[in-house]
Amino acid sequence: MKRGKRIGIMGGTFNPIHNGHLLLAKNAQKQVLLDQVLFMPSGNSYMKRNVLETQKRVAMVALAIERYPDFELSLIEAQKSGNTYTYETLECLKAANPDTQYYFIIGADILFQIEQWRNPKQIFQMAVLVCAVRNDYDFNMIQKKGHDLAASGANIIYLNMPKLDVSSTDIRAKVKSNLSISDLVPPEVAQYIEQEHLYYEED
Ligand code: ATP
Ligand code: MG
Repeated sequence: MKRGKRIGIMGGTFNPIHNGHLLLAKNAQKQVLLDQVLFMPSGNSYMKRNVLETQKRVAMVALAIERYPDFELSLIEAQKSGNTYTYETLECLKAANPDTQYYFIIGADILFQIEQWRNPKQIFQMAVLVCAVRNDYDFNMIQKKGHDLAASGANIIYLNMPKLDVSSTDIRAKVKSNLSISDLVPPEVAQYIEQEHLYYEED
């Protein structure tokens, strides 16, 4: 019998995409045996203001994942006008592909926010969470939070991977201060940022 596909979803603002996102997706793919990872840039988020236009964030994601055959760009959220909600995105994907198991890949910061999102319990029913360590959240805190979320129906897989101390916020600050970002983003992305003069005037 043919098994259903296992597909990872890497949602994010990707302003810009960086090596932390790629490392997270690679580890998730390997450890959770995913057939494919969908990179899903947000549209205009209600949670973050002053975000670079969607088309440019999307272009950088496309450049960064081009060389990985199992990584694919999904424009479901980017093309939607108005707010997008993860539970709606998952409903949409599930309706189109009922046999696919979805894995929602996140850094630990999202584990601590997801209860504030719309309809978290529906998210937990439709996707397994795949969580990586990040920032100041140590593994004990993460597991404690995971235990709480499990009571609301969440299934969580914890990735075993090194912490990579990089964020899009850091990158924007570095560009603004004229510091090199070549160790933090793929070369194509660094080049795009330079060509398009992105982030120089960030406030
Ligand atoms: P910003 O600083 O603008 O919030 P970000 O670096 O957090 O940007 P996002 O697009 O907000 O990037 O994040 C998308 C997803 O990637 C989230 O689930 C986030 O937790 C995860 N993520 C981003 N950077 C890392 C990292 N260095 N290690 C682990 N997970 C990460
Ligand atoms: Mg973030």
